[in-house]
Amino acid sequence: MAGAFWCIVEDDRQGNPKKVTAEVLGEASRLAAQAGGQAEAVWLTDKATEAGLKLLAEWGAKRVWLCENPGFAPYRGEVWTPVVAELAAKEAPKAIFGAVTTRQRELLARLAARVGAGLAADSTALALDGERLVATRPIYAGKLLAKMTWAKPPWLATLRPNVFRAEDPQAGASPAVERPAVRLPAEQMKLVERREEASTGLPELAEAEVIVSGGRGMKGPENFVILEELARVIGAAVGASRAAVDAGWRPHRFQVGQTGRTVSPKLYLAFGISGAIQHLAGMRTSKVICAVNKDSEAPIFKIADYGIVADLFEIAPLLTQEFKKLLEK
Ligand SMILES: Cc1cc2nc3c(=O)[nH]c(=O)nc-3n(C[C@H](O)[C@H](O)[C@H](O)COP(=O)(O)OP(=O)(O)OC[C@H]3O[C@@H](n4cnc5c(N)ncnc54)[C@H](O)[C@@H]3O)c2cc1C
Repeated sequence: MAGAFWCIVEDDRQGNPKKVTAEVLGEASRLAAQAGGQAEAVWLTDKATEAGLKLLAEWGAKRVWLCENPGFAPYRGEVWTPVVAELAAKEAPKAIFGAVTTRQRELLARLAARVGAGLAADSTALALDGERLVATRPIYAGKLLAKMTWAKPPWLATLRPNVFRAEDPQAGASPAVERPAVRLPAEQMKLVERREEASTGLPELAEAEVIVSGGRGMKGPENFVILEELARVIGAAVGASRAAVDAGWRPHRFQVGQTGRTVSPKLYLAFGISGAIQHLAGMRTSKVICAVNKDSEAPIFKIADYGIVADLFEIAPLLTQEFKKLLEK
């Protein structure tokens, strides 16, 4: 539908759309209601589920463009991009939104180049101003907020997780499902090896409402167990600074910051992290920041809502104990 606000679905690769998609659909629904259009989902997957389709409708999608093909898994930018671009050329949506996730960051950037559209990457606010859409996005590692608009549609944007509000789920809603014929591009690359990363059993960094992060002050990889124990009690994800990642203590997918993940949880707990600008770039939009550092001059205290000047090896186990007691009540 012309005037549609498209949202690319992020799923768990088992046919279940993830929470970030609810947030993107929520924002698209609000904007579409003002602009006289509708929110629609575009789902590229090797296996969709009825439950997944229903969920998308409950989150606000009036229509789902379902492109189901074994060739869509695992995600490859060079396969997904031409499919979405071709569909967009035919259907002329007003906007195409995605979430700031590893694959959608890449997909939307490729798509912008392919369709000759502007992209507001990592947006933290979107608002209609008459006929224009205005995006707000942090620049210079989060030191400034820039407002930008597009010369022409489609308006492409990636939305930072945990910033936009999902709509209240509309129980019982079901979407119109379109199954467009898709032509997969000729294979340019072959998958030669696939490694599944072992799951930590903890929430994913990008989606977590609480994050417990450790830096060089953790002193070694073995000590991250202390943070994992705390995380398990409060249902948090565990993140790390680049110093901890570069030292080989945590894999790169846990890195928070300019060259890692951008996160925006309700609560960010930083242990033994000094607060370098590149780290702050990835977490400064967290709602509440609490830092534990034995150096009272550490820059992280400048942006922390709560600061504890102390040895993290005393504080982290104490917090775990106290939270346990509180939650057992
Ligand atoms: C281009 C570029 C990109 C970068 N991207 C990133 C990025 O994405 N993410 C990122 O994090 N960094 C990034 N960096 C690196 C960044 O500049 C810092 O070097 C890094 O963030 C420092 O990590 P840290 O705070 O863990 O270590 P440090 O700066 O060494 O700080 C360790 C802190 O631990 C405290 N501490 C030590 N022992 C204890 C204890 N027992 N109890 C309590 N506190 C203790 C110390 O007081 C200190 O403040 C980037 C740098 C560049 C140049």
